[in-house]
Amino acid sequence: MNRTKEIKRKKLYASKDINQFMADYYYELDHAAKTGDKKIAWCTSMGPAELLRAMGFLVYFPETHSAMIGTSRMATELIPDANAIGYSPGICSYLTADIGAFLNHITPLQKTFKGINNIPTPDVLVFNTNQCRDVQDWFEWYGNHFNAPVIGINTHRGIKNILDNQIDSVASQIEQLIPVLEETSGTRFDLDYFKHTIALSKECSRLWKIVLDFASANPSPLTFFDGTTLMGPAVVGRGTQKVIDVYQDKLIPELKERVHNGIGAVDNERHRIFWDGMPVWGRLRAHSELFAGLNASVLASTYCNSWIFTAFGFEDPFRSTAQAYTELFSVRSDGPKENQIKEWIDFFKIDGLVFHDSRTCPTNSNSRYGMPQRLEKETGIPCLTIDGDLNDLRCISDEQTKTNIEAFIEQLEENHL
Ligand code: SF4
Repeated sequence: MNRTKEIKRKKLYASKDINQFMADYYYELDHAAKTGDKKIAWCTSMGPAELLRAMGFLVYFPETHSAMIGTSRMATELIPDANAIGYSPGICSYLTADIGAFLNHITPLQKTFKGINNIPTPDVLVFNTNQCRDVQDWFEWYGNHFNAPVIGINTHRGIKNILDNQIDSVASQIEQLIPVLEETSGTRFDLDYFKHTIALSKECSRLWKIVLDFASANPSPLTFFDGTTLMGPAVVGRGTQKVIDVYQDKLIPELKERVHNGIGAVDNERHRIFWDGMPVWGRLRAHSELFAGLNASVLASTYCNSWIFTAFGFEDPFRSTAQAYTELFSVRSDGPKENQIKEWIDFFKIDGLVFHDSRTCPTNSNSRYGMPQRLEKETGIPCLTIDGDLNDLRCISDEQTKTNIEAFIEQLEENHL
């Protein structure tokens, strides 16, 4: 029987630089909110951040903020306040935790960054439904509250083969955002500057992919749990030079050195696990230590790979942006998703898959329509589904999760013999 052992997490030195990046990012937003020196756009995590930056906005991402609420384990207490005003406990717990926090005048930014008391007030809110409809409802609520325009893009979902007319539609919707953005920002749209922000975003994606691909080394120098925080700059900073600097100068050299010296993120790595779906933000540390204690490295994921946008190009920046934000894993149907996971299994030399069935996020819960069973049959790689949620800890049984994971690793261990 496997027994988890006491484990110490191996921190990357670059984490400090990543934390500093995030601090600078939030202080810049806070300064703008207090002084009005720059306009602020709220954007969904897979929304058109490059266009917003090209129009001179600072960009705030409520999903990242709600992940902080989850990490600080405040979400479960705050969600009922959003439920009380009509937002069901069954819908996205990023949305309910975030609105619940706002109703209580609470933000984890208060504790993390001295002097920041509130989230930044939006001048405009821009969504893309490529991930789910919840983001639109979420932004509508804040738009009403702040009396700010809510504009966005409605993307096709569950796409098998991406069709030209789908890209045409998204590209034209992106273009149609411009008049409202010009009016809100007081800045004329400049195509060359848009191309410039796209170039920065493309480079950010390239570097973030290099970071994640280091996990193909044996042992892997980083885990999925590391990735959930290391990806912060790629999410909130894409389209800026600063994110390029922190990955290029700090994180990548350190990971390269770890690989060169054969240093794994997990000691005595025996099993290489792929994680599908959302993290459980309030259990990042617990899950990281649980797997590491079983000599299992959870080293790659669908989630961290979501911020790699390879399609950005300059010939037609609107169409390439539409392509980049439509060809994402979470936007596709099960067939392309399964093919992609099979490629990752080979590339990362995976010997077990864990599917997180996150109660309030159907988009990122891929276990509900037979995918683990199909993959197991086709690849021979064992799969485990764990029940949980990204933010709402009431949906989680820690004891059950631990028992299931221990039994799963034991099964992998037997396959090794
Ligand atoms: S994709 Fe899931 S977690 Fe993200 S906003 Fe939509 S429902 Fe929430």
